Amino acid sequence: MIQHVPLLIDGEFRQSQSLQWIDVTNPADNSVIAKLPCATEDEIEEAIESAAAAFQTWKEVPVPERARLMLSYQHLLKTHHDELAELLSSETGKIFADAKGDVWRGIEVVEQAANISSLMMGETVENVATNIDTYSMIQPLGVCSGITPFNFPAMIPLWMFPMAIAAGNTFVLKPSDQVPLTAMRLAELFIEAGAPKDVLQIVHGQKEQVDYLLKHPTIRTVSFVGSVPVARHIYQTGTHHLKRVQAFAGAKNHMVVMPDANKAQVINNLVGSSVGAAGQRCMAISVAVLVDGAKEWISDLKEALAKVHPGAWDDTEAGYGPLISPQAKNRVLGLIEEGKAQGAVCELDGSHCEVAGYPDGNWVGPTLFSGVSPEMSIYQEEIFGPVLICVEVDSLEEAIELVNNNPYGNGTSIFTACGAAARKYQHEIQVGQVGINVPIPVPLPFFSFTGWRGSFYGDLHAYGKQAIRFYTETKTVTARWFEDDIPTGPNLTIHLR
Ligand code: NAD
Repeated sequence: MIQHVPLLIDGEFRQSQSLQWIDVTNPADNSVIAKLPCATEDEIEEAIESAAAAFQTWKEVPVPERARLMLSYQHLLKTHHDELAELLSSETGKIFADAKGDVWRGIEVVEQAANISSLMMGETVENVATNIDTYSMIQPLGVCSGITPFNFPAMIPLWMFPMAIAAGNTFVLKPSDQVPLTAMRLAELFIEAGAPKDVLQIVHGQKEQVDYLLKHPTIRTVSFVGSVPVARHIYQTGTHHLKRVQAFAGAKNHMVVMPDANKAQVINNLVGSSVGAAGQRCMAISVAVLVDGAKEWISDLKEALAKVHPGAWDDTEAGYGPLISPQAKNRVLGLIEEGKAQGAVCELDGSHCEVAGYPDGNWVGPTLFSGVSPEMSIYQEEIFGPVLICVEVDSLEEAIELVNNNPYGNGTSIFTACGAAARKYQHEIQVGQVGINVPIPVPLPFFSFTGWRGSFYGDLHAYGKQAIRFYTETKTVTARWFEDDIPTGPNLTIHLR
């Protein structure tokens, strides 16, 4: 029987009264696995009101108690790691090992949220004037919100609500309409871990429901992760309605390969970071910038990529799963055709990919282009598929100029044996997350996820110390206590007045 995904409002998993429902599908065969409601305005209003009421008590809960909730939650998530990964695989098609990684990256953020006591510390300066001290404290804001994409159904919701709630806020989450099931299970486990039932609310839907959140006066912050056009819309609409907004957007991540790099390492890392998760990672390497002698490595790269094949989530031989939808597959196939038409050399073409037993899945095989130039659409657009393109340049300077001229700035890496080249690259590159002989340099949660330029709209990034600043307000107190007020000794008589 196909389940109807509930909303989570006021601590209750309840069926929506909506008349508008969306199919949630398994991308390996496009069968319908659930029906998802687009929440009504009344339902969203109720979720926001309930979160606002919950904030009044939750903000007063002692910080160590909030930390203990996160400790219990991370323990429970670990206990349910395999089960969560299997559910995640069913709605994304991710292979099991990769799905486990998605969940694990979220668990690490919950662990960081359990450090909330030290993260909430303020600052003090004694004697800013005679007998006067100034100190700051941080306080939660109120109702925060999050809108998440399809490609990390566990990790990205967990970037958001644990940090916000640990800081004393309450939260309304609108998960991806393509992969809502993992988020619902994360919420069940959160309540099982001891979360007060109304600190996290979940509403479902698409643009209409998101826009309602963006315009609602009670919502204080909006955390968004998704595609570029939607990120721009979210940032512009949210800030127009005077909210604090962080909007993480698309990417085009380059790996610069110097000729002195270890060739075997380069090939292995390029394969894993370009076609892993079917290229549907915002930090996937989608452009290899081959410098000078490294241009000769294309045939080795082709050979290594040709050995990888997609498959079902439980196929342990598969390198990755399907694309999320037939639309996503058609978009990728269209870009592959444009690449050929615009003169790039298609070294390996995954357009006609079949997986035994899954004739209706959204499969695309590993695809490799060489001879790509920056005006081609395969260079300009985020393909978000298992497609690696190679741009050949003659020097490190030329590589840096290419990457800095690209509008995106999420991640990049350089592979080299030369410290000076690596140092020059890390210093001059206009990208927020840099790997040196590391292909996908996603920082662990004690740092923050720091995409730049066209990959991020906002000021304060996800998780780490920046998330705490995003989800709190700073209050500064300046205090003077008069020495005359200090009692001079015990008063042993009855006070007459
Ligand atoms: P998407 O923009 O289509 O959807 C993201 C969320 O926005 C979903 O919850 C969706 O329901 C909602 N949404 C869709 N259209 C909307 C609209 N018009 N108005 C308001 N809300 C709308 O993104 P996606 O396809 O789910 O995710 C893939 C994209 O996310 C890629 O571009 C990828 O690079 C990006 N991404 C970025 C990061 C990062 O950290 N920078 C991380 C993961 C994914």
